[in-house]
Amino acid sequence: MRNFCSERVRSIPPSGIRKFFDIAQEMDDVISLGVGEPDFDTPWNIREAAIRSIEQGQTAYTSNTGLLELRQEIQRYLEESFGVSYDYRSEMIVTSGASEALDIVIRGVVDPGDDVLVADPSYIAYCSNVMLAGGRPVQVPCLEKDKFRLTPEAIQEKITPKTKVLLCNFPNNPSGAVMSKDDYKAIADVVVDNDLLLVSDEIYTELTYDGQKTAAASVDELWERTITINGFSKAFSMTGWRLGYLCAPREIAAEILKIHQYVMLSAPTGAQYAGIEALKNGMDACKEMVQEFRVRRNLFVNGLNRAGLKTHMPSGAFYAFPNVSEFGLSDEVFAERLLKEHHVAVVPGSVFGDAGKDHLRCSYATSRDDLMKAVERIEEFIADISKN
Ligand code: PLP
Repeated sequence: MRNFCSERVRSIPPSGIRKFFDIAQEMDDVISLGVGEPDFDTPWNIREAAIRSIEQGQTAYTSNTGLLELRQEIQRYLEESFGVSYDYRSEMIVTSGASEALDIVIRGVVDPGDDVLVADPSYIAYCSNVMLAGGRPVQVPCLEKDKFRLTPEAIQEKITPKTKVLLCNFPNNPSGAVMSKDDYKAIADVVVDNDLLLVSDEIYTELTYDGQKTAAASVDELWERTITINGFSKAFSMTGWRLGYLCAPREIAAEILKIHQYVMLSAPTGAQYAGIEALKNGMDACKEMVQEFRVRRNLFVNGLNRAGLKTHMPSGAFYAFPNVSEFGLSDEVFAERLLKEHHVAVVPGSVFGDAGKDHLRCSYATSRDDLMKAVERIEEFIADISKN
């Protein structure tokens, strides 16, 4: 029966994260550091805006590109936060999550045979998205010694005559790395000189802890060759609402819009009303959440280092990315044994690409108590494996 499925879909691997959740689900007393979503409810005023819209009968499709007021709010938000200017009339598409934006952007720009550079480690969907579009993902390592940031040298090394796109995500899932404006400026020349299109997934941009949040398109030379992807899932704890957006120069947005029109028509209407409220009046709640994540990050990362797990201090997102290379176990075996023997679920770093090898992704989007318990259990596990 599998033969009925396309070669492309058969060629992509299932998500490497699922395996660990399946094991964890069968076990008692597991502390999960595997989750990729904030552990807060969507702020009430945002929920109320959606409820109100439903009560008022706003239940039809919206315009393909999204509600006018929402796009105007996105334009204002990007201008005020990053100094990046996109026209809500022609350079913006509201999507069903950043996930849809990623999919339609990749399908909109990649032809079969194109090479797509993917900053590695990366969100698990990227390589599959590229392969489903017929492209070839080429990993560009972002190394621990560079604080997991993209460097022009690493990009240059992977360029071939077929390279068309550079796909990256900062603040990064899984490493927590952040690119500053200077870091983006540093890669601008190699992007421009090689005529690359930059696809920048900035979904964690509000979750930045040390210093300025930034957008790749705020670098002047990059704007005209950058597609910015963002969404509401992480900043406003809205993962279940399925709301995101992409911004791109007009000619590119017009082509990508055709895919959105055929596969989605429009993003969920109630969620779009919630999104307007989030951008208008949700920033205080977002800042409170970020403050709590900052406290947890410090507690957890310091705790891991004290427990003997070398962990750099991540500057964004809500993931710690400890290095387990000194224990003589692969990241997969470390994660599997930690789960089975000490009931802590984490994700092996190699799931996110070659540069993730020997690391673990540990989400701190969980309570301070659970984080501290997890640190104790990890310490016990390290004591166990150090004995043998
Ligand atoms: N991009 C990255 C880097 C992510 O980590 C995630 C979700 O974990 C997404 C995109 C998907 O976001 P959305 O919920 O908006 O589809």
